[in-house]
Amino acid sequence: MLDALFKPRAVAIVGASTKELSIGNVIIRNLQEYGYKGAIYPINPTAPDVRGIKAYKSLSEVPGEVDLAHIIIPAKFVPQTIEECGRKGIKAVVINSAGFSEMGEEGKKLQEAFLANARRGGVRVFGPNCQGIINTDPALRAYCNFTFTYPEAGSVSVVALSGGVGALIMQALFDLGIGMRMYASNGNACDISIPEILRYWGDDEGTKAILLYTEGFSDPNEFLAAAREVARRKPVLAMKAGRTEQGAKAASSHTGSLAGVDIATELIFEKTGILSFTDEGAMVRAAKAFASQPVPAGNRVGIITNTGGPAVIATDVLVASGLDVPKLSDGSIARLKETLLPEAAIENPVDVVATAGGAHFRAALDVLLEEDGVDSIFMNFVTAPFTDTHAVAREIAAVSRMGKKPIVCNFMTDLTQERFRITERILKEGGVPCYANPSDAANALGALVRYGRLRQRDIGKPESLPGADAARARAVVGQAGKEGRTVLSATDVYTIFEAYGIPVAPWNVAGTADEAAAAAARIGYPVVVKADSEKIDHKSDMGGVVVNLRDAAAVRATVQDLQGRLGKHGRLNFLVQKFLPGGRELIVGASAERGLGHLVMFGLGGVYVEVLKDVVFKIAPVTRVEAREMLASLKAKALLDGVRGEKGVDREKVVDLILRVSALLADLPEIREMDLNPVMAFENAVYAVDGRIRI
Ligand code: ADP
Ligand code: MG
Repeated sequence: MLDALFKPRAVAIVGASTKELSIGNVIIRNLQEYGYKGAIYPINPTAPDVRGIKAYKSLSEVPGEVDLAHIIIPAKFVPQTIEECGRKGIKAVVINSAGFSEMGEEGKKLQEAFLANARRGGVRVFGPNCQGIINTDPALRAYCNFTFTYPEAGSVSVVALSGGVGALIMQALFDLGIGMRMYASNGNACDISIPEILRYWGDDEGTKAILLYTEGFSDPNEFLAAAREVARRKPVLAMKAGRTEQGAKAASSHTGSLAGVDIATELIFEKTGILSFTDEGAMVRAAKAFASQPVPAGNRVGIITNTGGPAVIATDVLVASGLDVPKLSDGSIARLKETLLPEAAIENPVDVVATAGGAHFRAALDVLLEEDGVDSIFMNFVTAPFTDTHAVAREIAAVSRMGKKPIVCNFMTDLTQERFRITERILKEGGVPCYANPSDAANALGALVRYGRLRQRDIGKPESLPGADAARARAVVGQAGKEGRTVLSATDVYTIFEAYGIPVAPWNVAGTADEAAAAAARIGYPVVVKADSEKIDHKSDMGGVVVNLRDAAAVRATVQDLQGRLGKHGRLNFLVQKFLPGGRELIVGASAERGLGHLVMFGLGGVYVEVLKDVVFKIAPVTRVEAREMLASLKAKALLDGVRGEKGVDREKVVDLILRVSALLADLPEIREMDLNPVMAFENAVYAVDGRIRI
């Protein structure tokens, strides 16, 4: 439980300072000015008081109980101070001081030392090298932080390792008039982690939505587990930085480098149902809608406007984000005709026109509330000076308060005028999320809809594979490991594939021309012959793949030719394989991610991988729903269904192959990289015709 950290009844400041421009002073000032309801105990060896509050020479002299201590002293004194905290019964500390693991070996040792003392004394550590926490609960008002924004109380909680971004988000919430619930920025995060904070807020009734900023995870699996649990219960909006690096990585042509840490973060968000953003402004504006509005049941939007153009912009943005602005039912249209002004445009958008008053707006709102074909309401409200804008605002606010359907408002006005500030306040008090332009409002509504979709999405559980021979596959990998081989031979690779029921083109490995010809006869012509050597990565680049061989003489000649050209690279074997022309070439790949297991990749194979980079990733284990999503999210997905008379491919067999690859990865954590490229996909079958595994 993190109550001692987030709901401290008394706070000690070790390193309290009388110097105005110091952290040891600012934190006390923040506690005072924000109106902290608990006791404040400055600890200072010489000063009798700090900022008018009696100071104590040491923690042991503090008369009352203390839940939380700020530590703002040189790093080398921290271990001893933590020990004192333990003795005093302090349950949590915020270590604002820097000079630990971020500073190399010496700092790391200090961090280990204070952590050991913390564990012994039952003290939980937040930080070090961090800002702290804020709890805006009016009954507590704990501003245990050295930033300068004094947030309004509300229902959005914010966590960011980076103090700079945390402060930025907090200020942006404040500027948009969005209330905040709790705040945490935990720097080095050596003990209390983001997953733990997420869980705590998941249980916090006052937190309606969570905003998260991250640049990656120290323990991705821990985050995955926590995020999955919490995102099911309440919206988690997240953003990670480092996107350009992802772009650079995606440009690389190899499975292992196609995926990267940054892709993994994005995939964690996707797998756990976290709503991901690429822009901090968009994330904060979306939070405004999440803070007060219900989640829409679907993507159909009804627009009410008192000015034409902005509704057109809104329609464009809504539709571009996958929302629908459908026709209204005949019943709704008839009702609108009865109630609106004669010059009103009765369709969707409903243009009530600029002279419309509160009653007209309300009539249109009521129709959309009752219209079954509409899941949410988008308002365009310009404060026409010749109308009673307060009355209009009161109606919008009243509908928002009902909480029946989500509503967002593009509010076009001039807030330097007192009158319109009042109109705005009426909207705000009704919890109507207002935005300064149609695009921002539309994007915020789009985020609500996206979340609604995420919440309905159930990826299911990974399936078990009856008949998979894990022992056989493990034996192959074990043997290669023993022999110090990191790239598996063709025999190894196809044996492993077969152990998992992955369909492969009939194959045989031969050492000589005679053996190859015999193998070809068994497999049946035409065949392909490929050079098989651990030294050769891309066989066809070196002329190591010869297709469509129709008789024994051709096979023999090919083997001799390959031996002559490529034999110098070391021992060479020859993979003889059934020639299966005319399929759609796909790629299924995998790479190991630090702390996360494997990423599975799927896309167009063969030369298309390099040229189009049309590939998608998922974190293993992949469920059937996710495998289907992989097929559906290719840019060239139409190719899978066949175009212009070409046949499509057996999608479910592709899905099945992806699931088998995922099962294989789960049993063989030693695999660093793997790809099946190409998988030949036909109308009724799929076959892997090339495989590579690195352990
Ligand atoms: P590499 O990827 O090492 O260059 P591949 O085994 O993938 O070698 O072969 C290169 C290309 O040859 C494949 O992308 C595919 O177009 C073709 N090819 C390989 N094996 C077969 C096969 N059994 N049937 C049909 N085409 C094949
Ligand atoms: Mg290949």
